[in-house]
Amino acid sequence: MTANPFFTRSKLPYELPPFQEIRVEHFAPALEAGMAEQLAEIAAITGDASPPTYDNTVVALERSGELLRRVECVLYTMVSSDTSPRIQELDAEYRPKLAAHQDAIHLDRALFGRIDALFAERDGLGLDGEDLRLLERYHRDFLRAGAGLTEDQQQRLRDLNGELARATAAFQQNLFADTKAGALVLDSADDLAGLSDDAIAAAAENARSLGHEGGYVLSLKLFTNQSELAWLEDRSVRERLMTASLSRGLDSTRELVSRIATLRATRAALLGHPSHTAYAVDDLTAGSTKAVEDLFARLVPPAVANARAEADALREAAGGELASWDWSFAAEKVRKERYDLDMAALRPYFELERVVRDGVFFAAGQVYGITFTERPDLVGYHPDVRVFEVFEEDGSPVGLFLADFYARGSKRGGAWMHSLVEQSRLLGTRPVVVNNSNITKPPAGEPTLLTVAEVKTLFHEFGHALHGLLSDVRNVSFSGPNVPRDVVEYPSQVNEMWMLRPEVLARYARHHATGEPLPEAVVDRLKEARRFGEGFRTVEYLGAAVLDWAWHSLADGQQPGDVEEFEAAALEAAGLAMPEIPPRYRSTYFSHVFSGDGYSAGYYSYIWSEVLDADTVEWFETNGRPVRESGQAFREGLLSRGGSVDLMEAFEAVVGRPPRIEPLLARRGLTS
Ligand SMILES: [Zn+2]
Repeated sequence: MTANPFFTRSKLPYELPPFQEIRVEHFAPALEAGMAEQLAEIAAITGDASPPTYDNTVVALERSGELLRRVECVLYTMVSSDTSPRIQELDAEYRPKLAAHQDAIHLDRALFGRIDALFAERDGLGLDGEDLRLLERYHRDFLRAGAGLTEDQQQRLRDLNGELARATAAFQQNLFADTKAGALVLDSADDLAGLSDDAIAAAAENARSLGHEGGYVLSLKLFTNQSELAWLEDRSVRERLMTASLSRGLDSTRELVSRIATLRATRAALLGHPSHTAYAVDDLTAGSTKAVEDLFARLVPPAVANARAEADALREAAGGELASWDWSFAAEKVRKERYDLDMAALRPYFELERVVRDGVFFAAGQVYGITFTERPDLVGYHPDVRVFEVFEEDGSPVGLFLADFYARGSKRGGAWMHSLVEQSRLLGTRPVVVNNSNITKPPAGEPTLLTVAEVKTLFHEFGHALHGLLSDVRNVSFSGPNVPRDVVEYPSQVNEMWMLRPEVLARYARHHATGEPLPEAVVDRLKEARRFGEGFRTVEYLGAAVLDWAWHSLADGQQPGDVEEFEAAALEAAGLAMPEIPPRYRSTYFSHVFSGDGYSAGYYSYIWSEVLDADTVEWFETNGRPVRESGQAFREGLLSRGGSVDLMEAFEAVVGRPPRIEPLLARRGLTS
């Protein structure tokens, strides 16, 4: 048997995991050894007879768990991007074990005793800002994880965490299976009338790969509004597609949704909070549930008024009736009439390779001075993954960027960024980050042409990648996107601004066959049309945010009742009940909040972050400085600092004043 590649630090550049050597049987022993090793490291800290110091306790803790971190990053990658029944089994088996392992550390009384003692004398320890923050961070994390509870309460907490880990893993697996099963199978190309030829070819290819030879299959993407709804001419096909999308999980995850929400409420109560939302925001920039609810209250009425006005215009275009499956289709029609914009006709101008190199990478070069070189000699976890080395202006190394663009059966829906190696000066690591998206793979030999929305997603996810790549912190706990969750979307949203900047657009938006630039008149109309549909988008988003909020506002012991009734009541109460605009995710397929703790009570973060984002975009556009100079200031003051500074203070230091909400309201047309 070959040696387990997880047991040593990778010898590959930037410690890229040696995917060629990793086999599925390597995970379990490495996870077991990783947990054991970290517990031994913790035992060494608590067994130290000398009094606690920052170095012998906090630094030692920060360094611990290296092997575990290594294997967990790869396991998470496989679960999300290239899963298999065996990987799913591993995830289901180890998620509760890993949750229990975290508990074992956080509920270690001797360890917390040392941290607590250091915390009490923190101002006299001579720590710099980042290290002081790390000590405070650990102290808070331990308390939030139950370090202050009695033995009995701690046992109860361990049980709850184990149950939650099992339930969220089951949610993810059931949803994965259901999303696959919900794919719409069609017999005839006529059913797909309205889609482009290559979209139809892709549906045929998809059918072949799924064993429906001769048919056409539209696989479901994670969000409610499937992109094909904008073009499919046959109303009954649209209805079937929307119904399939909305029905996901109604059988397989509905019990889990209620269960997860009630378990979280119980856990929050045990930790001294009236609800999971209260527990969550206590640690976030928002600070209180009221701050989030105030933001909702401020945004909902103008957003709904906008959406109703849009609905009137669309209903007319649709000939009177406007169901949820008609909205995107009618919106395309109106967009065409009003702005002379045929979004489908734009796709030939957005060819993936060109968008990435001359758009996303080019913009990052203009703003932050970095360059990218593909490294075909380095391999990822799947043949579709591409590896790029990132350099500073002066040629010094930054890190690796892995790109995994295409959808496949083994990948979960959506688009996201995650880290394989996190930057830390303490650990001597440079960043290795991954971007995933779910772009339909064209038939062999055909170019990959993107929709405007897909281009936006590429810029967005790359903003997260930059957060990881440009990180320059000592402690891995603060590396890159390790910031309070409600501001994690801030850098990625800011990065979307470069998509329509003239100097960037002129480079990447070129016809794939002729090389012709996107006509300037079209660019102008695109900008004009930017606000069109903001009512819909804001209501769709707020619907999901409010559902997340409602599920997690339950008090301990409160029974949510039937999932669909609960949803309807929550939307009604928030003033968001518009059947034509279902939430961006319904509860039963709301992976962000039910497949892990990730965004639970935190889906509001997107709009919370967007306040900072819109204000930052305005700053970039109006501060009168060259883009590269502003970019450097933003990079040094905010992006590179990760969680090592208070983000609100960092914002003020860079921009020169606290954030304002007005740019967001203007952007989303909510100023009326
Ligand atoms: Zn994001």
